[in-house]
Amino acid sequence: MAGKLVVVGSSNIDLVMKMARLPKVGETVTDATFVQAFGGKGANQAVGAARAGGEVVFVSCVGDDAYGAQVRGSLEADGIDTRLVFTEAGVASGTALILVGGGGENCISVAPGANYRLTPAHVDRAREAIGAAAIVIGQCEIPPETLDHVIAVGAELGKPVMLNLAPARRIADASLARLAYLAVNETEAEFLTGRRIESNEDVEAAVEALLAKGPRTVVLTLGARGAFVAADGARALVPGFAVDAVDTTAAGDVHCGALAVALVEGRPLLEAVRFANAAAALSVTRLGAQPSAPRRAEIEALLQKAEG
Ligand code: ADP
Repeated sequence: MAGKLVVVGSSNIDLVMKMARLPKVGETVTDATFVQAFGGKGANQAVGAARAGGEVVFVSCVGDDAYGAQVRGSLEADGIDTRLVFTEAGVASGTALILVGGGGENCISVAPGANYRLTPAHVDRAREAIGAAAIVIGQCEIPPETLDHVIAVGAELGKPVMLNLAPARRIADASLARLAYLAVNETEAEFLTGRRIESNEDVEAAVEALLAKGPRTVVLTLGARGAFVAADGARALVPGFAVDAVDTTAAGDVHCGALAVALVEGRPLLEAVRFANAAAALSVTRLGAQPSAPRRAEIEALLQKAEG
């Protein structure tokens, strides 16, 4: 069995209303259909990794409400270890209200709730799990000081840390410098480097600028085009898989989770990114965040089909 993945991060309940037309301010529309789904970048990565074949420990906070119990149950159904999912009293579980119009346009409001109760002290309670991990993964829907602490504890315990800087926000230089892997999309790369990315040259320049900040490997995802990878003198565009895209929600999260699984299994970097591209491509062919994360067999089948 390959080593464990420890994902530290957010979990949300997504409450999705689809309607012919988004309401204007002050207006009520009454034609919506409602779907509830599980989301939150941390939980999406954990589920993406578990379905891709990883053994996953999730560190997160939920509220002492009905949603918190549902989130826990759903993660457990995917075989994820939830012993370090903490239930915080007097706070709501993370919730996203998502309105989707007929053309796919949306309005989203997120209440982080319990996700912002995840403190450095909780991370300390996960030290044993982090010490036993093959890789530690974080993202930016938890308090900045908690994320910095995850990266510091990972480094202290000699564990490779993968950061998906999503959603983009400022991060301490010291934290960036400690990363084994920095995974970003184009918007996040633009945020970190302060440069627009329009051409292939811009992609390569952005990756060099990101590497200069200290992470040992940079993975810059490029939507349907795939991902550009840079490490130790190696530079490569790993092409994406051609699919009919339906909903790109959580593509980056699934990419990150699957990438970590492949790396923990000892696959070489470019092969691991190809595995992640296949997993993320499958996820964009389906609606929703966690419902869209593919299983190992589907990922392997897509990889084999592409080779055949
Ligand atoms: P994010 O979801 O964070 O915005 P990207 O849009 O770059 O990130 O997508 C992440 C990964 O998902 C890409 O590297 C690619 O492998 C895959 N992907 C995204 N969109 C498509 C698409 N339309 N077709 C195939 N693969 C896609």
